[in-house]
Amino acid sequence: MKPYFVAANWKMNGSKKLVLDLIEALQVVESDLLDIGLFLPSPYMAEATAMVGQTMIVGAQHVSQHESGAFTGEVSCAMLQDLGVSAALIGHSERRQLFGETDDLCGQRLKRVLKSGIAPVLCVGETLEEREQGIVESVIAAQLESIEVGFEYASPAIGFTIAYEPVWAIGTGKQASPEEADEVHAFIRSRVAERWPALTSSLRVLYGGSVKADNVRPFASQPHVDGVLVGGASLDVGTFTEICREVAVAGQGG
Ligand code: PEP
Repeated sequence: MKPYFVAANWKMNGSKKLVLDLIEALQVVESDLLDIGLFLPSPYMAEATAMVGQTMIVGAQHVSQHESGAFTGEVSCAMLQDLGVSAALIGHSERRQLFGETDDLCGQRLKRVLKSGIAPVLCVGETLEEREQGIVESVIAAQLESIEVGFEYASPAIGFTIAYEPVWAIGTGKQASPEEADEVHAFIRSRVAERWPALTSSLRVLYGGSVKADNVRPFASQPHVDGVLVGGASLDVGTFTEICREVAVAGQGG
């Protein structure tokens, strides 16, 4: 069985001190049942990779689709790898909504990341309006199509993660029920198996959206949930550490 993946997305929050405190606290919850990923603001990634070595994954929240060149403000895959960063979020809903990231752009970034050997975490999810219209599956299916562009570079050694994050549940305190989330996860799995069967052996599907220590276990216990992507609650050392503990318990069948 693949280890559960617990990923922290700090967004544009945190400090150098918080990096040090969180990594130190997480030493006690490291386990073979868990992969812990820290998706940090760029200025903190070097500090984090130096501290964690191989024990945790340090990831980027954003990466350019270009190899190098005159792209002021952008960060390349090679630069991330120079720092030991081994994963990257692609298509987080905030980037889609605030910075105009389209499925096409996500596809190009996914291709660049896979070609470089960085593990992608492709974020998908519907808005509340789309859920109310009953078009969740078609929205997710369209977002998943960005896999097609870079699929040829995917491999089990790199790994592939999809994070299902209903947009209406991010940072709002609202949540899909664990069963609703699991239904979408099952759809994601079957869609990937149908369109890109070679990905299925390494695929992990995470749930994200207002995950906290006291609500994570029912999500992590669902049959198609392989971990969680945590935003706000990952900024509190005690809470994120507890979330990791809870997921490890769920992984043991608790
Ligand atoms: C996120 O940013 O990916 C996220 C899930 O945020 P939150 O946990 O705060 O809803």
